[in-house]
Amino acid sequence: MSDDKIKELIHKSELSLHDKFATLDEICEFNQIKVLDAMQKNRLSEKHFTMSTGYGYNDDGREVCEKIFADVFGGECALVRPQIMSGTHAISLCLFGVLRPGDEMLSVTGSPYDTIQSSIGLNNSAIGQGSLSEFNITYDQVDLQNDGGIDINNVLNHIKSNTKVIFMQRSTGYAKRNAITLDVIKNVISAIRKKKADVIVIVDNCYGEFLNKEEPLNVGADLIAGSLIKNPGGGLVHTGGYVIGKMKYVTQVASRLSAPGIAFEVGANLGVIRSYLQGLFIAPTVTMNALKGAILTASVFEDLGYEVFPRPFDERSDIIQAIVLGSKEKVTAYCKGIQSASPVDSYAAPEPWAMPGYEDEIIMAAGNFVQGSSIELSADAPIREPYIVYQQGGLTYEHVKIGIMRAVRELEKLIK
Ligand SMILES: *Cc1c(COP(=O)(O)O)cnc(C)c1O
Repeated sequence: MSDDKIKELIHKSELSLHDKFATLDEICEFNQIKVLDAMQKNRLSEKHFTMSTGYGYNDDGREVCEKIFADVFGGECALVRPQIMSGTHAISLCLFGVLRPGDEMLSVTGSPYDTIQSSIGLNNSAIGQGSLSEFNITYDQVDLQNDGGIDINNVLNHIKSNTKVIFMQRSTGYAKRNAITLDVIKNVISAIRKKKADVIVIVDNCYGEFLNKEEPLNVGADLIAGSLIKNPGGGLVHTGGYVIGKMKYVTQVASRLSAPGIAFEVGANLGVIRSYLQGLFIAPTVTMNALKGAILTASVFEDLGYEVFPRPFDERSDIIQAIVLGSKEKVTAYCKGIQSASPVDSYAAPEPWAMPGYEDEIIMAAGNFVQGSSIELSADAPIREPYIVYQQGGLTYEHVKIGIMRAVRELEKLIK
């Protein structure tokens, strides 16, 4: 296929997606207003961008930043810090913050993300390091149904007198399923509350921010957590994570990050406030660019005859696009194409490698400005059947388009 043919194919997909994209633009506009309103309401000012050092006592910038995040995501209170190192750290803080010995945690979306399993104590990668199981906190799980839905009756049957936390992962992770929509999250939470009102519902919100007009706290969750080098950082943030929700629980989480009695009061902002808020300000647009890129990818590769999930017109709840390529050669070629379209390290050819914490070899294309930032265009694939590549991100829609053009070109080379 010539480059002109590839362009034509992409153009055809774009035409078919016109109405779908218009709906997303409307959500984007809604979220832009939401973010702007929160900044104005909290009287954000130049003085808040000052760097604090040492203990960071009386840090107005940090406090205003956390109030803005709380308002945008519908929480009473937020913890938004560069001292939260990753999404895993944010989620782990939530679990260790609210659970006590004898409590049970129930995951209702099947196995959590690989790295969270170590915090719970489900695998052998962190023996003796103080996982939940070492504190006599037990774990139970309800798997998703074959169609990816949540089996509510089964969930209700698994709720016991000591079930303290209900855990949901909104995004797909490395599973072969679509993400959980907000409607589903809402229905499940209301059914659970009827059976046990005082459970703490924690949602791993990674990759889900700004996809809808609502966020999980708006539909009944108690705590959400995520990474600032994904959607909510808009690509401008260098490091950090967030936890937002009910005052009582976020305070427990803050006390876990710092120390009981100190909670929110300490933690120098190290000069991140400007990028956190500028990133949040553009995050609705950046996220929609990435989402449109994902939908375009789905459409183009479905046209080329590949199985994709979600499909182009499916309702989405994260920015991940999976393409079933079917062979190691193809996933390698795909990642090579994406890497060659990167602004950074474009000359590198990605190779499969044994990444710590993962069972199969992984190949990754990520020519990013910020290491591991997956709101930037990136693709990765575990080297195992049925050879699925997971693509996410794209700071601009145009970049995703260029990326998939290169990926198609690399795949074409295999056929020749
Ligand atoms: C990325 C991600 C995590 C972990 O975040 P890290 O920043 O990689 O530690 C957890 N859950 C989901 C669904 C994710 O996408």
